[in-house]
Amino acid sequence: MSESVVTNVVVPMNFPYNYRVGQYIETYIRGLGEGKILGIKCPSCGKVMVPPRKICGVCDRVMEEWVEVGPEGTVENYTVGHVRLNLGEVERLDTPVLLALIKLDGADSLLAGEVRGIEPEKLGDGLRVRAVFKDPAGDSLSDLEYFEPEK
Ligand SMILES: [Zn+2]
Repeated sequence: MSESVVTNVVVPMNFPYNYRVGQYIETYIRGLGEGKILGIKCPSCGKVMVPPRKICGVCDRVMEEWVEVGPEGTVENYTVGHVRLNLGEVERLDTPVLLALIKLDGADSLLAGEVRGIEPEKLGDGLRVRAVFKDPAGDSLSDLEYFEPEK
């Protein structure tokens, strides 16, 4: 028997599951289906969070005031992905995936999203982008499909 050391084992796994997203994310998803991005405003500090959450992380107060934000926003940070993990294997991408943290107009938090329609070297902090919604909508977080440079 060989004395070699096993350093890597690939175990493909697939875990599809359903879970109840809760009232706040359900309202958020229904908004996406109507082409709206909904945030929630804290009654104490006034910060608007997207995606919405029940409790303000700053004040510990319950948030109940819904506000529409975006669909335009500003890239605050980003990364360019040249590989993807596919069932444990590294897959090199022909076209890089551009992922950004976006501060939507009217929001105080950052929302992660894919940016399409721009060369990777042109993606940068401060770039103005606009949300593109899936048509038809599918009652899913992916109804906010991606962001593109603002025209
Ligand atoms: Zn607050």
